[in-house]
Amino acid sequence: MGLLTRKELMESSNAFSLAQQQLREAAATFGIEADLVEVLAACKRSVEVSIPVTMDDGSINVFTGYRVIHNNARGPSKGGIRYHPSVTCDSTKALAMWMTWKCALMGLPFGGAKGGVTCDPHALSLGELERLTRRFTTEIVNEIGPEKDIPAPDVGTNPAVMAWIFDTYSMNQGHSVLGVVTGKPLAVGGSLGREEATGHGALFCLQEALTRLDRTVAGTRVAIQGFGNVGSVLARLLVEQGATVVAISDSTGGIHNAEGINIAGALAHKAAGGRVSDFPGGERITNDELLALDCDVLAPCALEHVITGANAGAVKASLVLEGANGPTTPEGDAVLNDRGIVVLPDVLANAGGVVVSYFEWVQGLQEYFWKEEEVNARLQAIVTRAFAETWALHERDATSMRNAAYALGVGRVAEATMIRGLYP
Ligand code: NAD
Repeated sequence: MGLLTRKELMESSNAFSLAQQQLREAAATFGIEADLVEVLAACKRSVEVSIPVTMDDGSINVFTGYRVIHNNARGPSKGGIRYHPSVTCDSTKALAMWMTWKCALMGLPFGGAKGGVTCDPHALSLGELERLTRRFTTEIVNEIGPEKDIPAPDVGTNPAVMAWIFDTYSMNQGHSVLGVVTGKPLAVGGSLGREEATGHGALFCLQEALTRLDRTVAGTRVAIQGFGNVGSVLARLLVEQGATVVAISDSTGGIHNAEGINIAGALAHKAAGGRVSDFPGGERITNDELLALDCDVLAPCALEHVITGANAGAVKASLVLEGANGPTTPEGDAVLNDRGIVVLPDVLANAGGVVVSYFEWVQGLQEYFWKEEEVNARLQAIVTRAFAETWALHERDATSMRNAAYALGVGRVAEATMIRGLYP
């Protein structure tokens, strides 16, 4: 398949074609052999399963689930499980491919995978969610395992879901297998620092970028879209470092205050079940308005494809920190690049989660657990090394941080594939 034009890609709105296109662009820029690109463009294994679940009212609903392994040239595959109505085989393949490059960019001994169930988890009771999770795990029990493929949380799943996956897999094996899944609760082999890991990683990336631009986190004005795991932890850590968080939002909308939002108060309000848009201390704004606010750093930490060709021209921040996966479309990316806005891409900016997942896997295999300071120090070392490598390539080749990050990730997987050789 040749390169699609941007327009064809957007019209196809096929996330996997988009991910393949990004791979081919990185490969073309950095001279990776065409045959090898075709190997990397394909997913190694995709499993689609049906998941019959007895609902609380006695009826039976049949859900569809997927587990996709994109590549395992560098080690067992790693990637989250998403529960969301928009989950499809294609979107899961795209997310699996992005995991491959992210793990390679971080230098982790993992390949990439992703899984998901097409469902609305908020519409399910706790019992229905547990039965769905246990049946899904049983359907993919031969695909996953600590030496094969290791799931983790993603949108719509959490440590409780990971505990059910761990328990179901372990019951099938006849003994506890800590390394089968990461993002587990601390009581069943989770890692200290895992819940804050993605926000921490994003903060480390921002600190590295600002240092290189002769700026500091203290005094920086940040607008954050999404106040879930990634966005809320990032907001808290930024305030601790002296930054001013001028806007936050959730799916219901957001609030803006140029003097800074009381993040501790907003966290307590959210924890009590409140909506961000109802939190006092700022004027109400929409999620679209948040993207165009006057600020230094814009951090999209919610959904895919929010910065597009249509609204990227209105972004006033000089730096975009991608906490979410895929928040910028290729068209939006081109506009940001043309305007000289530095984009710290998702594979770099939100990789803290998978790095600490790697630590959790290592701790589980060794059955020896580290202190939180140890986890955070090792996380910082890995993220800052990956940042430095990406920044050096970005400067050397006058290319975007996204291209540089892709080139490093794809190049490492290509090298491992070449060295291993094609079997048989
Ligand atoms: P989450 O479910 O904890 O939070 C998502 C947040 O986005 C919530 O505040 C939600 O209200 C908000 N939101 C939903 N729809 C929205 C909309 N239309 N506009 C604005 N906000 C909206 O999820 P999360 O774990 O924080 O993940 C967020 C993003 O970060 C996803 O793209 C995910 O893939 C990515 N990510 C997460 C991790 C992790 O460790 N949790 C790691 C890497 C990447």
